[in-house]
Amino acid sequence: MGSGVRHDYKIKASPASVQRPPVSRRHVAVIVTCVVLAGLVALWSDGPAEGKQSLQAPPVAALPLPLPERPPAAAELPDSAVLAAAVEQAAQSGRGERVLLEVGSGDSLDRLFRRHQLSVADLHRLLALDEVAPHLKRVRPGDTFEVHRDGAALLGLTRRLDETRSLVVKLGEEGYSASFLEHPVEIRLARTTGRITSSFYAAGLAAGLSDATIMRLAGIYAWDIDFALDIRRDDWFSVVYEELWQDGEKLRDGEIVAAEFSNQGRSYRAVRFPDEDGRASYYTPEGDNMRKAFLRAPVHFTRVSSNFNPNRLHPVHKIRRPHRGVDYAAPTGTPIMAAGDGKVISAGTQGGYGRTVVLQHGGNVTTLYAHMSRIAASARVGRRVKQGDIIGYVGATGTATGPHLHYEYRINGVHKNPRTVDLPKADPVPAARRAEFAAVTAPLVAELDALGGPLRLAAID
Ligand SMILES: [Zn+2]
Repeated sequence: MGSGVRHDYKIKASPASVQRPPVSRRHVAVIVTCVVLAGLVALWSDGPAEGKQSLQAPPVAALPLPLPERPPAAAELPDSAVLAAAVEQAAQSGRGERVLLEVGSGDSLDRLFRRHQLSVADLHRLLALDEVAPHLKRVRPGDTFEVHRDGAALLGLTRRLDETRSLVVKLGEEGYSASFLEHPVEIRLARTTGRITSSFYAAGLAAGLSDATIMRLAGIYAWDIDFALDIRRDDWFSVVYEELWQDGEKLRDGEIVAAEFSNQGRSYRAVRFPDEDGRASYYTPEGDNMRKAFLRAPVHFTRVSSNFNPNRLHPVHKIRRPHRGVDYAAPTGTPIMAAGDGKVISAGTQGGYGRTVVLQHGGNVTTLYAHMSRIAASARVGRRVKQGDIIGYVGATGTATGPHLHYEYRINGVHKNPRTVDLPKADPVPAARRAEFAAVTAPLVAELDALGGPLRLAAID
C-alpha cells in the first residue's frame, strides 16, 4: 500500500458530527511537527548559497553526506496547503492504533463495529458519504478492514476493494473524507525451459511454471499437438511469459508471450500478437494462426489415463481391427469437447458405439464421439456447436471394455487420423499488419533463440 498512487477524490464535510480529538496531545504533536517542518523549509529555501551556510551552520550541512545532485524543484517545495495537510497527518498519526477487523459469519458492519466496541454513530457518519457507502454495503465473512481507532472513535478505515484499488477514509478537521488508493501492477517477463521425462505436466512444474501457465501452454498447441497421446520422452519446451508483480510481491503468472514446443522431433514456435481490437492470438513467427478448425484431442489431456508412460515409448492404446478412430481412456464423466465448429447431425445410441454424437463441419468433415455415459443437453440434433463446447461425457456404453472416448474424423466419409490430418488454419496476420507483426515479434523470436531448448543445450554440453 505504501507505494501506491493517491487520487484524492472528494471531501465531504459534516462538521457538526465531528468528534474533536483531545486538545493537549494533539497540540504537542502539531508544535513538534511545525518545528521540524519549519526547519526543513528553512533548509530548502536557503539553498546551497555558501555565505548563508557558513553563517547559519546548521548541523545537517556539517554532516559528510553527499549533496543532492540537483536542488529540489519549485514544485516540490511545500506550499501552505501541503504543509497544513502534513501537520494534520502528523497530528492524526500520533494517536490511536491501527487494527485489522475480520468479518465473521453472520456479521454486518454494524455488528462488527459493536463487537469491537467501535462507535456505531461514526459508522453511520461514514456511510453517509456517497462515495463510501457502495463500497462498504456488502461484506462477506473473511473480508478485512484496517481500522484506525482511538478508543471507540473511528479515525480512519481502509478496505481493499480489488486487486488494484483500496478505499481510504480519514477523519480530518472537516469530518470524514474518502479517497482511493491505487496499487499498480507491474508486468515482468520470465523465461524457462523444460524437458519431458515423465509427463508434460510434471515437466512444466519442474520448470517452475504454475498450473495456469502449463494449461495455457497446452492451449496454445491444442491444434498442433495431442497432449493426451502424442507427448514423448525428450520432448521439450521453452516459454517466455509475463509475471504480475505488485509492491515487490508476485501476484501470479500472466500471459505467455512466446513459446516453443518440440514434439517427437518437430518444433512448433508461437508468438503472441494482438489483433486490431486488442485481443491477442498466437501465430507462428511466419504469421500463420496457431488456431485451426479442429482441436487435436477432444478431451483434456490431464484426464486421459493413457498419458505417455516413460517406460514404454508408445501410449497404452489398444487397436482392434478394424479400428478407425482414436481411443482416449479417461474416467467416466470426463467432459468431451466439440473438436470444431459444426452442427449436430446425430445424437443417440448407435449399436456398438453406444451413446454417440456426430458433428457435421465445413469442408465435408464429420467427427464422431462414442461410448458416452451422457450426451450433453446442448448436443441435440440440428443444434450448432462451437469448438470446445461440451457435447457429452466419457463413458463405456456400447461395446467398450472400460470408460473411454472413441473419436473418429472423416473427410467425405473417409476415415482420417485426426492426430495427423492436415487441418485448415484460421486467418493469418493480415497483409496490412505484417510490418507491425514483424517488429513486435522479432524480439520474442530472439528470446526463443536465446533460450535454445534443452536438447540444443544438451548438444553444447
Ligand atoms: Zn475406439
